[in-house]
Amino acid sequence: MKRAIFPGSFDPFTIGHYSIVQRGLTIFDEIVVGIGNNQAKKTLFSAEKRLEIIREAFIDEARVKVQIYNSLTIDFAREAKAGFILRGLRTVADFEYERTIGDTNRILSGVETVILFTEAAYAHISSTVARELISYGKDISAFLPPNVKI
Ligand code: ADP
Repeated sequence: MKRAIFPGSFDPFTIGHYSIVQRGLTIFDEIVVGIGNNQAKKTLFSAEKRLEIIREAFIDEARVKVQIYNSLTIDFAREAKAGFILRGLRTVADFEYERTIGDTNRILSGVETVILFTEAAYAHISSTVARELISYGKDISAFLPPNVKI
């Protein structure tokens, strides 16, 4: 059984995240989406609301589990009995960040990071822009996975 965690803030979970998980399911038997609940980081959506949104997105996919975690990502991977960390890559800026944390996580725990390049159609989609649009009262349904409403 190949299990990966897909950790992130998911504030909110977008169609870009959704696509990475769907494609990850062609590589892994099971994916645990881990909602990092860093107390120091202020979020627009509560961890419980983010959990609800992501569970709704994968309601028909039994191979996807969703959990909130408060620990280091590598400790969450160990708890979830996952040998892999799944991440998505959009830009060169993402690359620098992902390489640093991916190398650190592997050196500290042996857990490998598997990175998928974003689908071109979703390369511009980010939670930061989604939050900005929400703050101006704009509709962000085009940013969200199918069947999800916020
Ligand atoms: P974090 O705060 O840990 O970066 P995010 O919720 O922003 O969490 O992102 C989680 C993962 O999803 C990261 O690997 C990020 O690069 C990836 N990601 C975010 N948006 C997209 C997108 N539109 N396409 C592909 N991957 C994405």
